[in-house]
Amino acid sequence: MTNDVVSKLATVIPPSRISTDPSLLDELSWDALSEGRIHPGHYPELHAPVCAVRPRSTDEVRRIVQFANAEKIALVPFGGGSGLMGGAMSIRPGVAVDLRDLNQILDIDTEGSSARVQAGVVLESLDTKLNGVGFILGHDPWTVPVATIGGAISTNSVGYRAGIYGSMGEQVMGLEAVLPNGEILRTRPVSKRSAGIDLNALLIGGEGCFGIITEATIRIFPRPQARVFCGFLFASFEQGFAAIQKMLHARVRPALLDFGDDEDKHDPGAILYLVFEGNTEIIAAESNLAVAICSGDGGRPLGREEPEQFWLDRREIARRFMHNRRQRRERGPRRRR
Ligand SMILES: Cc1cc2nc3c(=O)[nH]c(=O)nc-3n(C[C@H](O)[C@H](O)[C@H](O)COP(=O)(O)OP(=O)(O)OC[C@H]3O[C@@H](n4cnc5c(N)ncnc54)[C@H](O)[C@@H]3O)c2cc1C
Repeated sequence: MTNDVVSKLATVIPPSRISTDPSLLDELSWDALSEGRIHPGHYPELHAPVCAVRPRSTDEVRRIVQFANAEKIALVPFGGGSGLMGGAMSIRPGVAVDLRDLNQILDIDTEGSSARVQAGVVLESLDTKLNGVGFILGHDPWTVPVATIGGAISTNSVGYRAGIYGSMGEQVMGLEAVLPNGEILRTRPVSKRSAGIDLNALLIGGEGCFGIITEATIRIFPRPQARVFCGFLFASFEQGFAAIQKMLHARVRPALLDFGDDEDKHDPGAILYLVFEGNTEIIAAESNLAVAICSGDGGRPLGREEPEQFWLDRREIARRFMHNRRQRRERGPRRRR
């Protein structure tokens, strides 16, 4: 099957974009779904992809989709492979569409607060570029160093700062995608829609089922003037949760709100970390109100250092994930059930 598929694909896209390297195919057959998350009674049957393709343009993606339709072969889009739900896993012999060569930042419009990028652009590289012009990417999951724009949109990823910038999906203004029938969909990049059906919604959170995103225009945000860190230890989860509800009812909007138990740090108790960012005066007012509410509800202030360390470490897990994946690649293909 492999030779047949590869030789036919080579008539559709340049052969240099097709790979059958076993360790690459192994890497592309699995995302960040941990084995512990899989129901033991529903363990998926895994297959390495027959081959991988690395398109460089929307037109190449279109030709790959048309080929797959004609040959009745499954395609699995693959971005950074950091999705947590197994959406990029290969569960039947198919072709992995590795989108990491669609990596061009096409336009940054600071006046219109938007950026137009290809789907394989890694979040961190876009954020770095935006920082150079006084802007930031509002989407900030732990996977910033590895996840791609297309993958983040397809998982409608939330990210740490969604409290003020919204989920990845909420930051999408317009999309270009190749639909399953090989047609190209282009939605107009506008900041607000008042009429008609929002076709972006077909692809946001779609995990690649309704098309392959090739390009996106997303919102960007001015770099925050200042950042304030607060932390509280509550005697119980319920006590902390009640304080959070009061804050939200008072329209206090932290950029980051992380709450839960962590026995390694404080036992007993529930820990709340808050980060406010934006205009200096506004965040001073909001954080003062948050301190008053949390202290009034029995929260013991933890000082600035602990929440700041949490902030600084928030992407460490992605670097460990990438390191483990590199090691796995060196060890060779994984065991299949
Ligand atoms: C708070 C939080 C919540 C999160 N919630 C989720 C969640 O609900 N689900 C989840 O899977 N991950 C979740 N994540 C992880 C995060 O969404 C992923 O790390 C990241 O967004 C996926 O990007 P990726 O490029 O690695 O995508 P990949 O892992 O490569 O792909 C993810 C999915 O999107 C598809 N895909 C990839 N690129 C494209 C494209 N260009 N066009 C069409 N489809 C494509 C893949 O087939 C797969 O189904 C969450 C992370 C955080 C911090």
